[in-house]
Amino acid sequence: MALGVVLGLRLDDPKEKLSLLSRGAEYDVLSPQGSFKKPTYPGICRVFARDGKCLSVLKTLFTNYCENHCAYCVNRAQNDMPRVTFGPEEFAKLAYDLYRKGAIDGIFLSSGVLKDPDHTMELMIRAVKILRNNYGFKGYLHLKVLPGASEDLMREAVTLADRVSLNIEFTEETSFKLFTPEKRIDGLLADTIRLSRIVREARERGFKGKVGQSTQIIVGATGESDLSVLKTSLWLYRELEVSRVYYSAYVKVNADAPSPLGPFFPSLRERRLYQADFLIKLYGFALEEILPQGKSFLDRDIDPKLSWALRNLHLFPLEVTKASYEELLRVPGIGPKSAKRIVEERGKVPLSLEVLKGFGVVVERARSFITIKGRYFGDRAFPSIKWERLEAGIQLSLL
Ligand code: SF4
Repeated sequence: MALGVVLGLRLDDPKEKLSLLSRGAEYDVLSPQGSFKKPTYPGICRVFARDGKCLSVLKTLFTNYCENHCAYCVNRAQNDMPRVTFGPEEFAKLAYDLYRKGAIDGIFLSSGVLKDPDHTMELMIRAVKILRNNYGFKGYLHLKVLPGASEDLMREAVTLADRVSLNIEFTEETSFKLFTPEKRIDGLLADTIRLSRIVREARERGFKGKVGQSTQIIVGATGESDLSVLKTSLWLYRELEVSRVYYSAYVKVNADAPSPLGPFFPSLRERRLYQADFLIKLYGFALEEILPQGKSFLDRDIDPKLSWALRNLHLFPLEVTKASYEELLRVPGIGPKSAKRIVEERGKVPLSLEVLKGFGVVVERARSFITIKGRYFGDRAFPSIKWERLEAGIQLSLL
């Protein structure tokens, strides 16, 4: 076998390395809407930013060596697979070439643990420094901070990246025992708190005012309830000012790993959790409104906003010509943009279902919950309407 060739891969070729390392980063979440592979070059994904812009991002590991044994991960130490590491200069050059050619707008760099967290972070930071300082890379950079890394290295990561993330993985200690022998909830929370303090200090100094911090929670691997996950997210948003919590549906990637657990498929739970998260963060709902006492899991068949509306039918139908912005936001099918348009425009144009549609309202979902100048357009059998029909617009209403 030729030197550097394993399973047909030329592991001394940066592009082949990238092909392997980008596959190892597949389960790292970049955006609530997911990311879509761009077939032109390994590791390049398309993601939608919050403003709707589509960005090309190079998403890869720095190394797929790992000392740890997380049962939910393809890169865990005991898996027999080709292992490679970028050199700092090698990665910087590869990434900058793609950026210079316009193939990427940004980079998401994660990693397994080579020797120990500090050693790996030092290599990653060296690569990113070459990229920023020597090559003049000005694109977006999301850098993973490895649990257990020193405070000095966290600080360096914050000065170089636009976003840093440290995954807390689970919300209950029992899940850690089952899935990841080297990680502990108290250790990860302590690291997350430390990182958030460093991010806050950087923001206060006016340095990179927008540097953000995110984290990722695995959903459906254990019996952890949606209530437990959402309580943790709320704490992260409110107390630590974390910019974004990503939910990642558990996928059994190792044959000997535990099977998914929970009331329904992890992928649907992931979607429901994002919807609940948006309702709390962007729509002003309280957690208790989404999961009232005695309810620990979100509904499988209907989204959390519709579920809330059905529990509060006494508040509907709502007269859209008079309702406040906050009241409109609570109507299924009306989001922040369409609520704003209604409030801004209703004094200027007569409202109708067509006009509301033009404002971005998902009329099929909203019509049973509103009146326009006293006229009701919903199903006469409301509320025993066919809710599946409303459910069809679920994605649109929350984006
Ligand atoms: S530490 Fe990260 S890369 Fe290593 S096994 Fe765990 S999840 Fe995978």
